[in-house]
Amino acid sequence: LEFLKILGCGSALPVGNRYPSAQIIKNKERYLLIDCGEGTQLRIREAKISFIRITHIFITHLHGDHFFGLPGLLSSFHLLGRTKDLYLYGPKGLMDILELQFRLSGTALRYQIIFTEVSGSEKTLIMQDNSIEVYSFPLNHRIKCHGYFFQEKQRPATLLVKKIKQYSIPDFVRGKIKEGADYIMENGTVITHEELTTPAPKPVSFAYCSDNKIKQKLKELLRGVDYLYHEATFMESEKERAKKTYHSTASEAATLAKDLGVKQLIIGHYSARYQNLQPLLKESQQVFKNTVLGYEGFEFSFTEGGK
Ligand SMILES: [Zn+2]
Repeated sequence: LEFLKILGCGSALPVGNRYPSAQIIKNKERYLLIDCGEGTQLRIREAKISFIRITHIFITHLHGDHFFGLPGLLSSFHLLGRTKDLYLYGPKGLMDILELQFRLSGTALRYQIIFTEVSGSEKTLIMQDNSIEVYSFPLNHRIKCHGYFFQEKQRPATLLVKKIKQYSIPDFVRGKIKEGADYIMENGTVITHEELTTPAPKPVSFAYCSDNKIKQKLKELLRGVDYLYHEATFMESEKERAKKTYHSTASEAATLAKDLGVKQLIIGHYSARYQNLQPLLKESQQVFKNTVLGYEGFEFSFTEGGK
């Protein structure tokens, strides 16, 4: 995971320069898009991110402010001549909506959408390759809603060039040493893995919680996560409203972050009633100091812990 960029941080209704939910993660040479509110493709363009490098899209639920941008984005992929497969994850029914739209508009996509339906009440592995694992986990909202947990895999250590030379380490054992083995010289001398390598950075993880009334169980599902995005649609003064609409307050999001012991909490999905976001930040920081406000254009570097 290289960095996270927020493309939209508003909730249901449009206000000023706030856009509906969408975030994008750079991972290796590709981009993973999480939620796709109305107008997301314009935000992606503004961020100068190439459409063709978006390989995976994760949708949390079927409320419009989280996916109304998807048909447009998928159509643009088609118009631009995409042939590369697209991996799409989301709730039951998402593919029905898309297929209906494409069918009635007589669109036959040039590329394939490989859809994985996300469901269930546990943390579930939905994708993995040699660099990351992605899990879905249930959130508590008015309709079925799932968050996504991105976990980097441990990378092998780096072999020090000067040590390769010093001990004339042959090619065929280098791979094993990188993965943790010691080097045993012909005369039986053991040179430890630690002496020969610099360790790879600790793998990081990030969890995305869109619309959610926090349940106790979420703490188990997210145990060990490094960085957390959690909605803070309301402030404590609107607690009842938050409950009724299955959303969270800034203080509740902060309590979750504190209980999980995350390194950083990013909040977002603000109700249109809040023009000034500083009070939400303050409320969250009173409970959990390492809170930052998500906003359109916000960038977060995973490799440098947010800097
Ligand atoms: Zn919602």
